[in-house]
Amino acid sequence: MIFDLHTHSTASDGSLAPQDLLERAAANGVTCLSVTDHDTVDAYASLNSSTFPGVTVVPGIELSTNWTGRNIHVVGLNIDPDNSDLAEGIRQQKLARLQRAETIAARLEKRGLGNSLEKVTLLANGATIGRPHFARYLVDEGHVADFRQAFQKYLGNGKIGDVRQFWSPMEDVIGWIRAAGGTAVLAHPAHYKLTNTRLRLLTDDFITAGGQALEVVSGTQTKQLTDKLNNLCEDLQLLASCGSDFHSPGNSWSEIGKFTRLPANCRPVWEHW
Ligand code: AMP
Ligand code: MN
Ligand code: MN
Ligand code: MN
Repeated sequence: MIFDLHTHSTASDGSLAPQDLLERAAANGVTCLSVTDHDTVDAYASLNSSTFPGVTVVPGIELSTNWTGRNIHVVGLNIDPDNSDLAEGIRQQKLARLQRAETIAARLEKRGLGNSLEKVTLLANGATIGRPHFARYLVDEGHVADFRQAFQKYLGNGKIGDVRQFWSPMEDVIGWIRAAGGTAVLAHPAHYKLTNTRLRLLTDDFITAGGQALEVVSGTQTKQLTDKLNNLCEDLQLLASCGSDFHSPGNSWSEIGKFTRLPANCRPVWEHW
């Protein structure tokens, strides 16, 4: 059984259409898939899960949130994508993404990097606009050599394109997930590069806000990290989740269905579904 509970499609910043993502999941032996696009459930409108009976599709989402000025991601799993509280939350997040895109574009323009908004909107093609769309713009216009450099110079942590003030607080985001009957998972805890003390503050606040699970495994990771997150998860009595955070084919470090196994002692998030 392979549960890949964190993936992206063209509804946000992934490069496969939802149905192609499902096909790739089936080909890679995934038995349970969640498409967790950034701040949208639009993928589910075009997903026909009956075409691959070997794969159970669990509706999900990855919500951006602002925790003490940091951009933290909360994955909602096993949600009702049509729930009205969640729909209202998503409406706010989509608006936040638009406002943020305008701010990022204005800042890039001030730096002499051209007027990106129209081109980025075309690149997103109806998807929620994210920094990867700006990265593509910067590469296409020859301002940077590649994606990595785009994030390093302009879009990554603390750079001019890293605009965080528009995201909703964690308790709101978790509230929408819970209202939609879902399980709230703290996504990729190691990505935030927090000290152990800060990470503990984050997980404490996450639990107080109604969070239920920790993404113990995100892609292929070291045993040291898996042990650390497994211990934290056990300590806090949280459920454990896992996924590839797949975005595009051809990324050797991230493939759908391929990631470090959850330790045997974990209580998996799907246990009570
Ligand atoms: P956003 O959702 O607009 O805040 O953009 C965050 C997304 O950008 C992440 O989900 C990744 O897909 C991508 N990303 C973040 N950091 C990097 C990086 N250093 N290089 C390439 N992509 C990145
Ligand atoms: Mn992404
Ligand atoms: Mn994320
Ligand atoms: Mn993700």
